[in-house]
Amino acid sequence: MNKYLRPLPFPLGSPQRRRCIDHMMAYAHISYREAVAKVVAANKVARDTPLRGERCGARTRRATSCMCKAMANGRCKYHGGMSTGPKTEEGRRNAMANLKPFAPVRHEVRETECC
Ligand SMILES: [Zn+2]
Repeated sequence: MNKYLRPLPFPLGSPQRRRCIDHMMAYAHISYREAVAKVVAANKVARDTPLRGERCGARTRRATSCMCKAMANGRCKYHGGMSTGPKTEEGRRNAMANLKPFAPVRHEVRETECC
């Protein structure tokens, strides 16, 4: 199942959402904005949590659907998509350090040319 099709506990404009916000304001003594922020956070958690028994469902080479267990993005570990590379500055430095000896020089040159 697509992560955007997962059932949300408090959909926008629903009576459950309004009731939950009212309840938090009355009994937890927090402001309206804080209550809304909590509801939004709960929806986000529900969207990022795979359903119990949720399957990947990607099309396989046998034209059947993949039956592996789904991750937070709705696909399995084999169909989750490609890596987007190192995120932190340290990670990028490590990636450069693991290149072949001549490669950092080449990449350095390319970076200075484009920027
Ligand atoms: Zn899969």
